[in-house]
Amino acid sequence: DASRAISLYCELAARAARELGGDRILVYHPALHESRRRQQVSVEELRRACDRGEFEVHYQPSVQCSDRSLVGVEALLRWQHPTNGLLYPDRFIRDAERSGLIVRIDNLVLRLVAEQVAGWIDAGTIDERFSASVNISPVHLADPDLLNDLRVIADRVDARRIRLEITESAAMRDPEYTVDVLSSVRSLGYTVILDDFGTGYSSMAWLHRLPAQILKIDRTFVRDLATDADSRRIVEVMVSLARDLGLATTAEGIETDEQSRILAEIGCDYGQGFLLGRPVPASELVAGLRTTS
Ligand code: C2E
Ligand code: CA
Ligand code: CA
Repeated sequence: DASRAISLYCELAARAARELGGDRILVYHPALHESRRRQQVSVEELRRACDRGEFEVHYQPSVQCSDRSLVGVEALLRWQHPTNGLLYPDRFIRDAERSGLIVRIDNLVLRLVAEQVAGWIDAGTIDERFSASVNISPVHLADPDLLNDLRVIADRVDARRIRLEITESAAMRDPEYTVDVLSSVRSLGYTVILDDFGTGYSSMAWLHRLPAQILKIDRTFVRDLATDADSRRIVEVMVSLARDLGLATTAEGIETDEQSRILAEIGCDYGQGFLLGRPVPASELVAGLRTTS
C-alpha cells in the first residue's frame, strides 16, 4: 500500500545518503532501487573481507529510560569496502548467512567486542553495570560450535559484560533446541536478549521456559507509540508481561522525545535509538563518554 511504499522510498534515500557519508539530503529516485540491486556483493568478496579485516564494529549507546544514563552499547557490524565505502549489514548479511560465512563474521565481531570491552575495563572507561550486546545470527545459533565459540570469548572477557541478542523468530525456529542451547549459554555467564520482540509469535508458555533475561521491543511498535493508541497498549502489555515473567525490557528505534517519555512512563527499563545516540566507531563513543561524565 501507499504508506509502505513511501516508507520504503524514504528508507532507500536515507540509506543512499548514509552511504555517501551522511549529513546530506537525498531525494528518492527510482535509480536507487537499481543501484541497490547492482551492488549485491559476492561470496568471494565477503570471504576476502574476512581475510583482510575489512569488517569493523560500531557502537550504539543503550540508556536507562528513567534518567537516560548510559548502561551499555549494541555492537553493529560495518564493512569498510575498498571501493564502495562503508556498507551496512542489510547489504551483505543475507548473503553471509546463505553462504555460512556469517558464523565466521559473528565470531569476528565477538572477538572485536571482547577485546574492546576488556580494554575499556582496564582503562577504567566504563562502570560496573556497563555491558555490550552482540547480535547472533540464526545460522550461528543453530551451529554446533556456538558453545565452543562462546567459551573462547569468555576466556578473554567476563561474560557478564556481554549480552547476546537473538531474534524472537530465530529462537522460535526450534523452541526445544533454543531452550537447551540458551541454558548453556547462560551458564557460561552471558545475558540473553530476545531481539525484535513482538514480531515472532512466541506463546506465553514457551516464553516462560525461555532462558532470556531481556525482551527487546521491536522498533515497529516504538515508531507509532506517540501517534497510535493500539501501539501504546501493545507496548504496555509487553512491559507488564515481561515484568510478570521476571524479565527486563528494552526498546529500540527511539527517535523522538515523545517516544522516550512514553516509554519511561510505561516503565520500560532501557532504550536506544537515534535520539539517544547513533551507532559510532569506538573512538567517537569514548570521546562522548569523556565529555558527558
Ligand atoms: P537490529 O539487531 O534490529 O539492529 C538495530 C538496527 O537499528 C541497526 O541497524 C541500527 O543502526 C538501527 N537503528 C538504531 N537506532 C535507530 C533509530 O532510532 N531508528 C531507526 N530507524 N533505526 C535505528 P544496522 O546497524 O543497519 O543493522 C541492521 C541489522 O543487521 C541488525 O538489526 C541485525 O539484525 C543485523 N546485524 C548488525 N550487526 C550484526 C552482527 O554483528 N552480526 C549479525 N549476525 N547481525 C548483525
Ligand atoms: Ca539487535
Ligand atoms: Ca532489533
